[in-house]
Amino acid sequence: MSSHVDFVIIGHGLAGTALAWALLRRGRSVLVIDRERGGCSRLAAGLITPITGKRLAKSWRWGELYPAAVAFYRSLEADTGTTFFHERPALRLFATEAERVRSEQRSGIAQAPDIRADWFDAPLGGFEMDAARLDVQRYLDTSREHFESRGAYLAADVGWHSSRGTGLQTGGGFTGLETGATNPNTVAPIELTADGVRLPSLSVEARALILCRGFDATADPWFGSIAFKAAKGEILTVRIPGLAEERVVHRGIWLAPAGAEVFRAGSTYAWEPLDALPTADGRAEIEARLRAFLRLPFQVIDHQAAVRPVIDAGFPALGRHPRFPQLAYFNGLGSKGSLLAPFFADQLATHLCDGGEIEPQVNVLRFL
Ligand SMILES: Cc1cc2nc3c(=O)[nH]c(=O)nc-3n(C[C@H](O)[C@H](O)[C@H](O)COP(=O)(O)OP(=O)(O)OC[C@H]3O[C@@H](n4cnc5c(N)ncnc54)[C@H](O)[C@@H]3O)c2cc1C
Repeated sequence: MSSHVDFVIIGHGLAGTALAWALLRRGRSVLVIDRERGGCSRLAAGLITPITGKRLAKSWRWGELYPAAVAFYRSLEADTGTTFFHERPALRLFATEAERVRSEQRSGIAQAPDIRADWFDAPLGGFEMDAARLDVQRYLDTSREHFESRGAYLAADVGWHSSRGTGLQTGGGFTGLETGATNPNTVAPIELTADGVRLPSLSVEARALILCRGFDATADPWFGSIAFKAAKGEILTVRIPGLAEERVVHRGIWLAPAGAEVFRAGSTYAWEPLDALPTADGRAEIEARLRAFLRLPFQVIDHQAAVRPVIDAGFPALGRHPRFPQLAYFNGLGSKGSLLAPFFADQLATHLCDGGEIEPQVNVLRFL
């Protein structure tokens, strides 16, 4: 006997989690499935920063996306009795005279007076900006606990095969999506039915299935033609005796407090190879950039890497499959998943539940 849910979500990263909440809040039932390895959300620093880059550019649609993110994370904190969203000023140190001049020309940017000269080498000064930080691990753990307590979470690997499976009536070359849950050798294809999907091995039926898989080398059969411009990123965790800075500090890279005298520093951008292996070059780059403004010695205590799911210059991609409306997609959060996920998860949930429109700029149809 199968249990029925409204939506199955593949992926418990920032995309799938925000979408699950958005659907639950609309009174729909969900099942989130994740294979619990890989993915980049658990490595992300969760920084939400209004002004980025050498040109001091305002982050895309900040005025809409940031209030949506604040409302979303704050309301979840209230509902779950947990704290994982922190609004705190961040410090940006000028790397060049051009940056400093540009900041003077921009309204709303004021020089930061309190930059400790014994900690930071910042002869050009810097400015403070209102920013936020999502404790991604805590947010995901809290969400998972909530989903699990309602039978709405499952650890399972979803894969594809090309030779078995007869249940999917796609009419194309694809023969099935398979899941290896408790026993990886036990696989069963998802079947697309007239009014939804079925996952026989998990005894689950759903109205729709949404792929929120981030960057994955194994392209799925429906949305697999979407081209990624994915970027690998590396992060160091460092111990810096004597440093008590509470703000995230930006100067070429960022340095974010992570406990007593412990900080995370990152991150790099590389376009090949797209794997999650930390490299000597990545470490050397972060260390050099850190030394460019940090006066204190540091010791590296951890080093991680992951791949950002970039599709199109920071635009997410979302919506239903043109041929199989019981399948949908939410991906492309790039390097700003904490900021983008709440707003666009809400847009996708409205679309899935009430037929609301997906903006053309982010509609997955544009990328297929
Ligand atoms: C070094 C680095 C630093 C970053 N810093 C920040 C930051 O400061 N602020 C910020 O907002 N963003 C940051 N990001 C970006 C952020 O990590 C991404 O935008 C976000 O995590 C993408 O979320 P996602 O859910 O789309 O993908 P993922 O987090 O990759 O989640 C996809 C999930 O799907 C699961 N999955 C995939 N395939 C399957 C399958 N076949 N079966 C079952 N499960 C499957 C995976 O296990 C994974 O959990 C950073 C990224 C990197 C690499």
